[in-house]
Amino acid sequence: MIIHMAEGASPEQTQRVIDRIVRDYGLRCETIVSDTPVIGVKGIAAVIDEGRITELPGVERVIRITEKFKDASRSFHHEDTVIDVAGVRVGGGHLTVFGGPCAIETETQALDSARMARDAGVDILRAFVDKSRTSPYDYRGLELGRGLEIAAAMKRETGLPIVSELIDLRHLDAFLAAGVDVIQIGARSAQYSPLLEELSRLQVPVVLKHGFGNDMSEWLCAAAYIMSGIDREGRTVGHGNTNVILCYRGIKSFESETRFAADIAMIPLVRNKSHLPLIADPSHSSGDRKLVERVAYGFVAAGANGFEFDIHSNPTEALCDGKQAVGPEAGRIVTNARAIHAMLAGVGMETGASVAVAAK
Ligand code: PEP
Ligand code: MN
Repeated sequence: MIIHMAEGASPEQTQRVIDRIVRDYGLRCETIVSDTPVIGVKGIAAVIDEGRITELPGVERVIRITEKFKDASRSFHHEDTVIDVAGVRVGGGHLTVFGGPCAIETETQALDSARMARDAGVDILRAFVDKSRTSPYDYRGLELGRGLEIAAAMKRETGLPIVSELIDLRHLDAFLAAGVDVIQIGARSAQYSPLLEELSRLQVPVVLKHGFGNDMSEWLCAAAYIMSGIDREGRTVGHGNTNVILCYRGIKSFESETRFAADIAMIPLVRNKSHLPLIADPSHSSGDRKLVERVAYGFVAAGANGFEFDIHSNPTEALCDGKQAVGPEAGRIVTNARAIHAMLAGVGMETGASVAVAAK
């Protein structure tokens, strides 16, 4: 970050800016005095609230040089990050498929859907206990203990690692004790700092959904925050959690025919901006099983490192999002998606984050 002082700014005003940066944020400054002083900030400038600097007397302009989401940015980490989820790789040249029922409803429904997902060829199974819904009156999952018992049974039955959404921090220990391999942060919690901060203390892989009212920078900031290991005062207190998987799922728009608006251009854009694995969700974005298959192929062709979709053994009877869940056709979707991925393996991302190289 660079701070330009205005013409005629007094040495006291310049010192006040430096004091604020050093005292409030624990960073270092270097000042160049030409016609007017220019202050350069050293360290993680992401912690600085720009408004608190621009409002100081004598400040002309504050310029951020590095993106606020430094830890997640490809400018600082050129190679694709590949994350190991209980032996399953996510990122780089791998296409990783996450799938399973939107929510655990009954043991029979969960196990039947889990077997269907396994037979379809998914790599990581959805075993969702806690649900954040469009309306809080909608089905929100079984009682926690029972839900986690069934989640563990789904994992045992299929031998697949499981992903589950964490909404309530008080449930974290029980999730980990039940063997949840990947913690998902849903679109509605995508900026909930206490959750992000707690997950930054662990090494458990995290799927971070794109909040449907967030722009790219806000999304990548949330990812970088999980990776940074800093506390609420901006101090580095640990290593951070680098096992972050981004999941694009579309944003709110005026179109009411699809559930959310998923912009396919976001896939290569985010792959170029960030080294983190990026998957996408054709189910929650389109909201309609008739659209899911083609949208999944689109995401893969656009360069996603995988996708996450809803698979249900009996979609028309589902308590949660049945309209967007696919049945046995899940197998065809996974097979075709892998073929598309293989066919395009030689096509790199624009910045040279080469899918071709990573695929070797
Ligand atoms: C989900 O994956 O079950 C889900 C609720 O998705 P989102 O958080 O993107 O709405
Ligand atoms: Mn759902």
